[in-house]
Amino acid sequence: MSCLRTIVPLMALLLATSLLASYEAGSAYATSDKPLPEPDHFDLKSVDTSLNPCDDFYKYSCQKWKAANPIPPDQAGWSHGAKLNLWNQQVLKGVLETASANDPKRNAVEQKIGDYYAACTDEQGINTKSIAAIKPELDRINALSDKNQLAAEIAHLHQITFVLARNTNSGSGTAAFGFSASQDLDDATKVVAAADQGGLGLPDRDYYFKDDAKSVELREQYQQHVRKTFALAGEGEATANTDAQVVMEMETALAKLSMDIVKRRDPANLNHKLSAEELRAMTPHFSWDVYLHDLGVPPTAHYLVATPDFYKGLDKLIVSEPLNNWKAYLRWHLLHDASPQLSQPFVDETFEFYGRRLVGQKQLRPRWRRCVTAADRDLGEALGQVYVERTFGADGKQRMLKMVNALEAALGADIQQLDWMTPATKQEALIKLKQIEDKIGYPDKWRDYSSLKTVRTDYAGNVFRASEFELKRQLAKIGKPVDRAEWGITPPTVDAYYDSQLNTINFPAGILQPPFFDKQQDDAVNFGAIGAVIGHELTHGFDDEGRKFDASGNLRDWWTAEDGKEFDRRAKCVADEYSEFEATPGVKLNGNLTLGENTADNGGLRIALMALEGTLASGDAARPSSDGYTPEQKFFLAFGQVWCANLTPEALRLQAQANPHSTPRFRVNGVVSNMPEFQKAFGCKKDQAMVRENACHVW
Ligand SMILES: [Zn+2]
Repeated sequence: MSCLRTIVPLMALLLATSLLASYEAGSAYATSDKPLPEPDHFDLKSVDTSLNPCDDFYKYSCQKWKAANPIPPDQAGWSHGAKLNLWNQQVLKGVLETASANDPKRNAVEQKIGDYYAACTDEQGINTKSIAAIKPELDRINALSDKNQLAAEIAHLHQITFVLARNTNSGSGTAAFGFSASQDLDDATKVVAAADQGGLGLPDRDYYFKDDAKSVELREQYQQHVRKTFALAGEGEATANTDAQVVMEMETALAKLSMDIVKRRDPANLNHKLSAEELRAMTPHFSWDVYLHDLGVPPTAHYLVATPDFYKGLDKLIVSEPLNNWKAYLRWHLLHDASPQLSQPFVDETFEFYGRRLVGQKQLRPRWRRCVTAADRDLGEALGQVYVERTFGADGKQRMLKMVNALEAALGADIQQLDWMTPATKQEALIKLKQIEDKIGYPDKWRDYSSLKTVRTDYAGNVFRASEFELKRQLAKIGKPVDRAEWGITPPTVDAYYDSQLNTINFPAGILQPPFFDKQQDDAVNFGAIGAVIGHELTHGFDDEGRKFDASGNLRDWWTAEDGKEFDRRAKCVADEYSEFEATPGVKLNGNLTLGENTADNGGLRIALMALEGTLASGDAARPSSDGYTPEQKFFLAFGQVWCANLTPEALRLQAQANPHSTPRFRVNGVVSNMPEFQKAFGCKKDQAMVRENACHVW
């Protein structure tokens, strides 16, 4: 959540954008009253044995699944993860519906989540209120009479929209810029105030400049969307038109000032420590004193400013743009963030652009699903407690821990046997590995929401209050010891992440379900599925970005110069390999943007296989063969099947342009074609596509 913290989630599908239309699941099931289908299990019958695994392993593993699982109309993609997410959401829906009955016997947590859900699902009440729900907020902006008041208004908007304008890989989504707390990059024991670039409505800076036909069209559609939203809010045609133009110009100016997404992957580029004096000098026309006072920012050791050049340009923009333009820009960001909480016309208009145009969704998700997603965002750890009670047992945690230990041992053995790394660097790497903390299932200590008020008749207000609560919670960390127990995602989330500043790997209960983790399956299958996920997260500690942090989470170079060069040479092989892959016709993957994820995918699968072989050799697991497959074949098939997915062309395009994860087909084929172990398991020949002549191997 905080601006700079380097959390690296596993999934692209759930994280692609911070916007309303993320890849959520389908009304084909969702609107039905029938019980939802259970999440998929590993299935040997879905292997297409008419194909040769060595030609295209993704097709071999996924073609039948893809044919049987078309994208539901309210989805931009459909995958095992999306299906599991839908199943998880149905569990949450049950919890929320029970809690939403206006029963005086409810406890405090039930009241909070129940009233939140009741307000969100009260479509009629929301429609009746319409724009009146945020009129006081619009009035505040319209009443601005002097540019000196901008700092106070931006502070206020940041408070009420903090959780709505989620951070993307390109920066913060909040108006003008982003502000929060962050662990210091050089001293991970310190939490400091952190400022980052932001203020854009499109997913990434490049969306404002690309000149291919599709990008030009998307910009035109975006400007139309801004115009229509202004019109819905009551602006006359001419004003809405002019204001939309102003927004486009101002966002383009901010985009021009923004550091690009690949450069941002090197934390050294974001590490600028400023004193309060320097902060003021950076933007003489923006009153940090007012801004920091209004947010109640505690004293901080220094300010961590990710992109000082952005702020210098922002200051010029404050001078050059008339107050009226700033008012239009701020109105737009308020409307943009509030639209999902407003009446149907606002919801539909937002869906038209962010759903239909940007990611190719055909239908809006049903309201209950949007409300479950919002409740998970705003009250996730209150809701998560019940989810964990219902779905996650102690036996699951034990088996998972055993696998994590096996994977960590395998990575240790892998590091020790590397022929390109000197003993000095190996020793540092092993210390870092040993210090990785494993978090499984849910936090030890649940978040206290008692100061957050939810009201049955005020959905927009509930969301604004939740936002204020969250920003306040983040900023309160400044100057205090780091809370190592905190989680960055909620327990029902179908995802996992590595946190380079805490040096932790995190697997919430939400992903510890089939087909990722399946108590009914043998070890070969589980190591290929969740084992590869564990390996992926561990490897992030040692990818091109993670390797720059040490065991304590500090940005410190612990590599000898020679080993660093050897690493870069191997990483370049991976970057070059993936740059050749075409995500959708005309759009290739960006090998430098996806380097960390691809390194993690490759290393993760290799050490998962090492761990499986170790487990098999120790006699802990049998080598069952009654199904006609060797454990190694099942291991690779489980890995392939986990990534079976259908994505719209729009979603593939968005992912390739703005997301650090490769698209699913290449997450599979890119990895196995680098592995002699795969080629041996399936008897591949030299000239087949899954056998790369220049196989890449980092970890
Ligand atoms: Zn990852």
